[in-house]
Amino acid sequence: MAENSVMSLSFKRACVTGGAGFIGSALTTRLLDLGMEVSVLDNLSVGKAGRVANGAKLIVGDIRDSAACKEALAGCDILFHLAARVAIRSSFEFVVDDASVNVVGTASILRAAADSGTVRKVLSASSMGVYSDSDSPTPIPETHPTQPVAPYGISKLATEQLTHLLAAKYGMESVVLRLFNTYGPGQTLSPYVGVVTIFVNRLAEGEAPVIYGDGRQARDFVHVEDIAQGFVNAMDAPISGVTLNLGTGRATTVRQIFEILQATLGTRVSPRMEAAPPGELLYSIADISKARRLISYSPRHEIQKSLPEAVEEILALRAGSN
Ligand code: NAD
Repeated sequence: MAENSVMSLSFKRACVTGGAGFIGSALTTRLLDLGMEVSVLDNLSVGKAGRVANGAKLIVGDIRDSAACKEALAGCDILFHLAARVAIRSSFEFVVDDASVNVVGTASILRAAADSGTVRKVLSASSMGVYSDSDSPTPIPETHPTQPVAPYGISKLATEQLTHLLAAKYGMESVVLRLFNTYGPGQTLSPYVGVVTIFVNRLAEGEAPVIYGDGRQARDFVHVEDIAQGFVNAMDAPISGVTLNLGTGRATTVRQIFEILQATLGTRVSPRMEAAPPGELLYSIADISKARRLISYSPRHEIQKSLPEAVEEILALRAGSN
């Protein structure tokens, strides 16, 4: 898809799908802070109503339900599409649900955006899961081959392509943001998603976290506030048909994460080492030079400082949900 520039637009009313989830709730808060009106469409399969920022209108519904999409998009000039089934490894087991929510759901919300007559721009969340595994920790640009190692990545690749194709066809601008491993306050508590929450939960229970392979697999851990700012910058930037990586450009190994968490929690548990299952990437580090250039993206958080702070919040959320 050709990348082209468009006139800078200012937006007043946003719809955020998945706005009761981890990243969507942080983004909703940020948009409200900017003075925008926000409606959130979330079926609360994972998200929580209580997480939706005060001031946003919550529509509890499914992105595959056209009536719910229509209601959530009424009067909106911009769509942030984040609702998804978010799990890499378990997407083998849940391949049908994954395709249904991430592919059919994306088609459904985009169709409703096109029909709304008011939405001018669509921003969709994609993932580092669209890339093929990298053989080194060198940051990968957006041109790195897209050959997903798990069904989740295939469904996110379809999300990307539907976003650009349908937006162009129906006269809307589009930006796709490929998010790398996002951490921070409000992170969804799940046994499947997010190495940080998985490790914190295991350590808090006094159980040994499982490290796959030799623990030297490296990820790009990016703070949720930096991701929310990236969405805002992409909203304001006069670009369309563009796909951008959002990470930090820095590599942290899974073993380093484990060590930071041990130090933060004051635990002394040895990890359980297991063979890597299918869907485990070896290296996944973002080259963010394109996002720096096109949307002035500049992540501020350092993992050494921000991870211990995030752990406090994760523990508080955990205590609240027990
Ligand atoms: P999350 O699970 O916390 O949020 C997803 C939200 O979507 C949840 O609130 C859930 O209830 C909602 N949802 C799921 N199915 C729905 C449906 N059919 N209809 C309506 N709502 C539905 O996940 P997150 O980490 O906040 O992820 C947000 C987006 O970012 C996703 O598109 C994900 O693929 C992408 N992403 C996340 C990460 C990460 O590290 N967390 C990394 C890369 C990409």
